[in-house]
Amino acid sequence: MVSGGTNESAYADAMFFLFGYGTKRQYLGDGHTRTCPRCHNTTQWRRLRESKQVTVFFVPVARWNRRQFEECGICGTVVEG
Ligand SMILES: [Zn+2]
Repeated sequence: MVSGGTNESAYADAMFFLFGYGTKRQYLGDGHTRTCPRCHNTTQWRRLRESKQVTVFFVPVARWNRRQFEECGICGTVVEG
């Protein structure tokens, strides 16, 4: 029967942090009806809020650079404001 410190090191190897970095987008509702400068369709745009965030184990721990904009639902062009 073999015993010793092997269990301890195996446990240490299994430890990890679920660390995420990304852009969070939140859908706020309907925006204005606009004519898109890129695809030239006149549609109702979507209003969005976007912010950069860092998560640890899926929990946001930092959020910054928040901005609001509207997005063309056809080609994805965004206009700030
Ligand atoms: Zn467009």
